[in-house]
Amino acid sequence: MERAFARLTEEIRGCTLCPLSESRTQAVVYRGSLAPRVVFVGEAPGAEEDRVGVPFVGSSGRILDRAIVSLGPLLGEFGVLNIVKCRPPKNQFDSRAARACRPYLDRQLALLRPWAIVPLGRHALAALDPLAPPILTAAGRPRRTALGSLFPLIHPAAALRSRRLKERWERDVRALGGWLAELHLESV
Ligand code: URA
Repeated sequence: MERAFARLTEEIRGCTLCPLSESRTQAVVYRGSLAPRVVFVGEAPGAEEDRVGVPFVGSSGRILDRAIVSLGPLLGEFGVLNIVKCRPPKNQFDSRAARACRPYLDRQLALLRPWAIVPLGRHALAALDPLAPPILTAAGRPRRTALGSLFPLIHPAAALRSRRLKERWERDVRALGGWLAELHLESV
């Protein structure tokens, strides 16, 4: 699996399937365990991720990392990736790039085989579960889909936008912890 994932990573790094490959500094592929229980799926890299080459290392990443630390052993091994692997220049979600990147996402998830997938924000949720209700309705509770179990959260950047969304983010992260604890009990 490690070899296949490394080959896929190299393939994504060399990708020229869409115009974002011309403006990127580098493709941003994955960070985390190669045997994750949970994979967090964001939208697309921002400026900091494009510079460093690692998903969620900017301001949203700090919020995500705080949540990850708060979940502690409930979370276990985890990974972080994005639907779109290259930075959209105006940080606007690029649905053409999302279509071009889709096979990479599916191949990453097929190799990683997480117990659960956590879409972060509306674009990630729509890509992983097109029939899902709006993100503010779906966030904070599990959903069964053809891809397996999803537990959507609002995008961590939204938690920076208002006190209400910060509280929503924190509440839903706690709900994710409760759900992971239940999953864990079921599996032992
Ligand atoms: N926002 C995302 O959706 N992904 C990142 O990697 C960084 C910010």
